[in-house]
Amino acid sequence: MTSGDRGRPAPRIAVVGASAAGLAAVEGLRRAGWDGLLTLVGDEPHPPYDRPPLSKQVLSGSWEPDRTGLRSAEQLAGLDLDLRLGTRAAALDAAARRLTLDDAERTVLDCAGIVVATGVRPRTLPGTEGVAGVYVLRSLEDALALRERLAAPGRRLAVVGDGVLGAEAAAVATGLGHRVVLIGSGTAPMGRVLGAETGALLAAVHRAHGVELRAGRASGVVTGPDPAGGPDGRHVTGVRLADGGTVEADTVLVATGSVPAVDWLGPSGEAAAPGAEAAGAGARAADGVRLDLADGLGCDAHCAAAPGVYGAGDVARWYHPVLGRTLRVEHRMNATEQGLAAARNLLAELDAERFGAPRPFAPVPYFWSDQFGLKLQAYGVLEGADRIEVLCLEKDPLRLAALHGREGRATGVLGAGLPPRTVRGLRALVAGDAPADWDEALAAFRTAVQG
Ligand SMILES: Cc1cc2nc3c(=O)[nH]c(=O)nc-3n(C[C@H](O)[C@H](O)[C@H](O)COP(=O)(O)OP(=O)(O)OC[C@H]3O[C@@H](n4cnc5c(N)ncnc54)[C@H](O)[C@@H]3O)c2cc1C
Repeated sequence: MTSGDRGRPAPRIAVVGASAAGLAAVEGLRRAGWDGLLTLVGDEPHPPYDRPPLSKQVLSGSWEPDRTGLRSAEQLAGLDLDLRLGTRAAALDAAARRLTLDDAERTVLDCAGIVVATGVRPRTLPGTEGVAGVYVLRSLEDALALRERLAAPGRRLAVVGDGVLGAEAAAVATGLGHRVVLIGSGTAPMGRVLGAETGALLAAVHRAHGVELRAGRASGVVTGPDPAGGPDGRHVTGVRLADGGTVEADTVLVATGSVPAVDWLGPSGEAAAPGAEAAGAGARAADGVRLDLADGLGCDAHCAAAPGVYGAGDVARWYHPVLGRTLRVEHRMNATEQGLAAARNLLAELDAERFGAPRPFAPVPYFWSDQFGLKLQAYGVLEGADRIEVLCLEKDPLRLAALHGREGRATGVLGAGLPPRTVRGLRALVAGDAPADWDEALAAFRTAVQG
């Protein structure tokens, strides 16, 4: 590590959020040759671990928590980090590139650059605080708490939210022998993303395994006295639906989506929408540095939110130059790719001669999900499609491919129950330098899937 010019402190880059994106950022910085101070701040007590197994192998009990670690202690030591775990970043003065930590000393770090990788936090249901038997699923502790709950046989689990997380948890809990009701605003798991036809086919898979699908919007929970004497003495007995109905349950998983963790970035630690005339926001504007916190941390095509301040992973909404619009992606692969891109472009901004020119971040998003042994994989963007072509090769076990498009362009491909190699082959349909023409992509899609 260099100490800079005599008498001057070594320059520091701080990465906030010690998970997939933050880890990729610090590794990218070191690999590219950053030899100054490198601080990684994370409010969880653990070194970086992987979240996808939480709703799969950890929840089912087939993995112990240590298998989720992303790097060994030796690998982390090799990065020569100033590692501050169990420490929350409290505030960022973006103009001064000054980070304040929520530790006992209220440490202030002057930085050459900052990468914000603070991810998202789970939404909760109103009125559930302190109610025993209600869970969310984001952290290792969340997963272990729910797993412990599901260790007792014969639970009646209501999963509120039929997105990917809810659908995966419902599948695992059903596999463990519990009675599961999956509550969603549509009638199909992941229907908002997959569309009606694929959603209905996935719904059939869930039903065939015993999951009860219930359309409805949860407005709260019903409670009764807690036999074990919970903190408030109340235990959940069901989920109340907005239409007046109730779903009986002794265990509730709230999987209704998430909110970007940007609270600490706003004036006095409170997120402000752009244009808000809060005192802090005004001060920022005077400095010419104002963070856009409307939906996560708004970034440009280089993942820059402000000079020297970059965003990566679930928290970052950036301008995707090929798609021609902003995007915030809550998928595991994007966290790594964007962490690396933010690191590279921050270094390019700090010293273009040494680190080269910045490059726009234009990935082909990828996600996967596992439900009842069925693997779903997607490239590109499935949401917001105005046309979807589904080619169902088999219903049981389900094997299908789908092409999603919008405004005459192909935007995403999905494979369910298909070998990864086959789905990777479809990726080319949505991986060009410009969005592909729908008709051309459709012809190529049919040929690739049906031969
Ligand atoms: C249960 C589960 C299953 C998933 N399954 C899949 C899957 O099958 N496929 C897929 O593609 N994706 C999946 N995902 C999504 C994937 O895990 C995320 O996209 C990925 O974890 C995002 O990484 P990240 O580093 O951006 O954010 P996160 O992993 O959320 O990490 C952000 C970190 O920053 C910390 N932090 C927040 N605020 C502060 C602060 N002020 N100071 C310090 N630290 C802070 C947080 O505590 C957290 O440790 C799943 C997610 C979950 C929760």
